[in-house]
Amino acid sequence: MTEKIHCDKHGDQLPAFVCTHVVQSIEDGVARGLVYSIDDEGCVNAYCTACEAMLNDNGGEWTEELEEKADIKMVCQACTRRAFEINNIATGGIESLKPIGGNA
Ligand SMILES: [Zn+2]
Ligand SMILES: [Zn+2]
Repeated sequence: MTEKIHCDKHGDQLPAFVCTHVVQSIEDGVARGLVYSIDDEGCVNAYCTACEAMLNDNGGEWTEELEEKADIKMVCQACTRRAFEINNIATGGIESLKPIGGNA
């Protein structure tokens, strides 16, 4: 079971793992593209299109250099919703992006 993280806005939520650029988008509202997957624990893993391109160029393998550039952060999954909205990606299919226990 994945441990929840505490968010000041949304309370206890599942964590999401996103690149630093996605975090930036959440903060400044600038779309940087978003590629995501959901792991077995129901956690969103997402990165911007630039990081996705870097990863593809590298045959889909994460290296130390890539990890450094992407600088993956653990953030509140409900907060990640903002990045989906900015990039015009529907979150309808992602149940876990809805804040747990209440309306947004
Ligand atoms: Zn990125
Ligand atoms: Zn949050």
